[in-house]
Amino acid sequence: MKKRNVGILLLMAAILLSWVLHPAMATSANPPPMAALLHPDNPFPPITRERDSLQPYITRPEQAKETSDKLAALEKKFGKKPNIIVLLVDDMGWGDPGCFGGGEAVGAPTPKIDKMAAEGLRLTSTYSQHTCTPTRATMLSGRLNIRHGIYRPPMYGERGGIAEEVTVASLLKRAGYTTCAVGKWHLGETKENQPQNNGFDEFFGFLGVSNIYTEWRDPYFNPEIANNPFFRGAIEKFPFSKHMVKGKRGGDLENVKLLDIPGLANCDIDFKNYSVEFIKQQADSDKPFFLWHCFSKVHFDNYPAEGYAGRSPSKYPYKDGMVEVDDIVGEILQTLKDTGQAENTFVLFTSDNGVEEDTWPDAGYAPWRGSKGTSWEGGVRVSGIVWMPGSIKAGRVSDGLVDLADFFNTSLALAGRKDLIPRDRYIDGVDQSSFFLADKGLSNRNIVYFWSDGRFHAIRWREYKIYTHIVNIGNGSYSAMGGMNQGTVETADKAFAFNLYVDPRERRPMVIRKTWLAPIMMKVRAEHMRTFQKYPAKKPVVNLE
Ligand code: CA
Repeated sequence: MKKRNVGILLLMAAILLSWVLHPAMATSANPPPMAALLHPDNPFPPITRERDSLQPYITRPEQAKETSDKLAALEKKFGKKPNIIVLLVDDMGWGDPGCFGGGEAVGAPTPKIDKMAAEGLRLTSTYSQHTCTPTRATMLSGRLNIRHGIYRPPMYGERGGIAEEVTVASLLKRAGYTTCAVGKWHLGETKENQPQNNGFDEFFGFLGVSNIYTEWRDPYFNPEIANNPFFRGAIEKFPFSKHMVKGKRGGDLENVKLLDIPGLANCDIDFKNYSVEFIKQQADSDKPFFLWHCFSKVHFDNYPAEGYAGRSPSKYPYKDGMVEVDDIVGEILQTLKDTGQAENTFVLFTSDNGVEEDTWPDAGYAPWRGSKGTSWEGGVRVSGIVWMPGSIKAGRVSDGLVDLADFFNTSLALAGRKDLIPRDRYIDGVDQSSFFLADKGLSNRNIVYFWSDGRFHAIRWREYKIYTHIVNIGNGSYSAMGGMNQGTVETADKAFAFNLYVDPRERRPMVIRKTWLAPIMMKVRAEHMRTFQKYPAKKPVVNLE
């Protein structure tokens, strides 16, 4: 930001600062009642700061009480803590599911995902990190990419880096859970980074990401490799796993099948069969379970599974993939119902990053600016559904803020073991169990922070998104699709502020008519930056250098 512009903003900010940040309610002899403070329209709700190493959260005692009562009743009925399932789709656009505006409208109906939303809580303001692996590490560690240091996905056998984090799987294991990872891992291939060494009792899936198994085999997209025996032979010798694998806690992984193009096309069916069998086996267990089920689809390049080619009205492989994902979500939820476990199982359905546009038309749909790899809404805003029949009221919809880091704290809250949250490092997640489970629950998160490649990019506060770094992808012209192929990171000459209610596509920066946002932005950014003084950011584990 240029000094002149900062000076103007600071001058206006100073005039407004004491009024905005110290409202009369704070000093009045007759403060407003708690009910007013907790009203969703109150812009500055009371904040609980438990300790320096934990993200502060909004104080909502009534919904917390309702939630603890519900969980106590469930435990009495089932004799164990609730099961936890994550259904993590790869690269799905915010708008792909029908209940988020896509479905029939984009040539890929998703009736089962829509039913899940109708039976649960649809979350319209859920945020991931900007790409695959950073988000997976964030969900498992409760920490933003600037803290866990995994700035980008490890490719072709790179080490990853999750081993340096405390995973929610390892903590749930300590809380008495049976833990199982199925599907895409992509948190590192080396032994110390493999899932069975990071808190999971068992793993069935692949270690990398779908395109590294097939791009060099595909004569359509990469003829210069696939049709050249010398180059193809060289890539086949790259030291990375090319198989679907399985293994148990602490043991070695063994190959199950080769991930050539047919192997990859059908792998999500294999993953589904494994998870369905796992869920059935757990029905009679006296221990709760945690299932981390990660789809390979709908990450490029999509090859239809058997029976799915042309199943979608659009006939495109991505859309056929969405139909397959929808079927799998339906079958997994039905298995929970059939085995009597639905009521005692919390399920989160979401995507690991925003829409991928670089590979269009093998790409999804989102009504936002930008795409995967950027901090624009298109890169980080993902569809979210939470489902727990009987505990999460059916048919709720909320735009309350959710950072997928919150999964970490929320899971431990459901397990009744928030005491296991580490204290030796900063945890960015907040416990959202009362948002999800209380019938009229509101989000416990005040702010979402966006970092990329070691740079602070933006915050989301209420309906506002305010940037100090932007990824330049053009101004929305037809050539401006994609985030990773074409995007360049720029330091904003001034703060870019958008009102996402009236400008969801972030096309009308409005800071000059919203100068009152400046002091708020500066305050919350400064508070966030102060957390790094006591808990410095980790040296990058995986970055571009
Ligand atoms: Ca992804």
